[in-house]
Amino acid sequence: MQGTAPPKDMDPEAFRRFGHAVIDRIAAQLADPGQWRVFPAVSPGDVARALPTSPPDHAEPFQQILEDYDRLIPPATTHWNHPGFFAWFATTGSAAGILAEALSAALNVNAMLWRSGPAATELEEVTTDWLRQLMGLAPGLDGTITDTASSSTLYALAAAREALDLRIREDGLAGRGDVPRLRVYCSEEAHSSVDKAVTTLGLGLAGVRRVATATDEAMDPAALAAAIAEDRASGIRPMAVVATVGTTSTTAIDPVPAIAGVCAREGLWLHVDAAYGGAAAIVPEMRHIMAGVDRADSLVVNPHKWLFVPLDCSVLYVRRPDVLRRAFSVVPFYLTSAEGERARNLMDYGVSLGRRFRALKLWFVLRAFGASGIADRLREHMRLARLFASWVDGEDGLEMLVPVRFSVAVFRAVRPGEPVEDANARNARILDVVNASGEVFLSHTKVGERFAARLAVGNLRTEERHVRRAFDLFREAAARPNLT
Ligand code: PLP
Repeated sequence: MQGTAPPKDMDPEAFRRFGHAVIDRIAAQLADPGQWRVFPAVSPGDVARALPTSPPDHAEPFQQILEDYDRLIPPATTHWNHPGFFAWFATTGSAAGILAEALSAALNVNAMLWRSGPAATELEEVTTDWLRQLMGLAPGLDGTITDTASSSTLYALAAAREALDLRIREDGLAGRGDVPRLRVYCSEEAHSSVDKAVTTLGLGLAGVRRVATATDEAMDPAALAAAIAEDRASGIRPMAVVATVGTTSTTAIDPVPAIAGVCAREGLWLHVDAAYGGAAAIVPEMRHIMAGVDRADSLVVNPHKWLFVPLDCSVLYVRRPDVLRRAFSVVPFYLTSAEGERARNLMDYGVSLGRRFRALKLWFVLRAFGASGIADRLREHMRLARLFASWVDGEDGLEMLVPVRFSVAVFRAVRPGEPVEDANARNARILDVVNASGEVFLSHTKVGERFAARLAVGNLRTEERHVRRAFDLFREAAARPNLT
């Protein structure tokens, strides 16, 4: 009987009503992100225990779902959008990016082929080129969007492997006596995604050689050249070098121009990991960090790190997209399309067939802030990190461990004559106390043998008072006599 069938999905009026309710929640969160603890007061298993163990048999009222969301999810979430979030690399899902995500979900585009998403495919080409221009890089870098820098680096190194012309795509690696051991070089400070990529590509952990860093935590190009020479002498075939602009621990900048020189001499693929640091090149006075990148074969920059785009959005640039495509393109008959060479099919540039419409949020964010708006915000983050460092420098019992290069301060508490193990244990405790406040959230790293606290500024809503609060909490905890 017509007219009595229940709607197949939420009816438009209800959608409008609940849509407003959702937007109200988001607006309230953005207006007052401090309404929740930045790091929640939960223990492993708490959330799962509060949830039913089996799915509902019948439809549940949407109002009830929203109420359960309110009750269970934000209070058990680590709030990355909180101005007191200073851990790892602090990020922001900005308002423009959030709205773009909603529109993208509604379009539900899967841009595997041009014809499965013409706007998504072409907007990706345009926005990644905009980002290249914003970073002051010359034309000739072809951009695609992936989920994370880990995937981008995997794809870049897959292209590097393909460029060796060893028929690895065709014949694989296992069981072949005609392929020497292959090696990828990166610094001791490079991100663990390099190890993951290399193992995924079948080279094993032994396929990564970590090159010594100089005193500034950056790769020593002379040590790189020596490692390559030593490997060649023992029959290993060097494949690629990964240089980092803004390392994870201390935001060190590898000397890309010198490394590019080594790669050119040795015929090696140069991949630059600027997942975090790349965004800073949008600030005109920081553009120098990209020196040498115009000689790289590939580059990764993550707009979801320090460019206000909600997770996930990583841009992989390659100078020779044909090589990347050779590494990944497999076209079964059911995915052929009439456009042929006239159109780019994003499925050819990585592992996944399906592709989210990530370019939409990048487009919204770049337009909503503009180059000068982005530069102003990044500049402020760097100012706040330097200000924090100046407070540390001015405080007995605290010390900076590396200079502030971008928007991250790496520091610790230390007492005269305190053995390094004791200082390490005490700093870990201090950090626990600071994070237990629920007001701010910092993470840790090691500089040499020294445990260090890391304060990363990257949230749009972070103000000087939040950074000051982090400093005061740390200083007060460090001053406690028996905190061990
Ligand atoms: N490269 C660097 C320098 C990083 O700091 C990180 C993460 O912090 C990554 C790569 C991995 O990023 P993703 O989480 O996007 O894979």
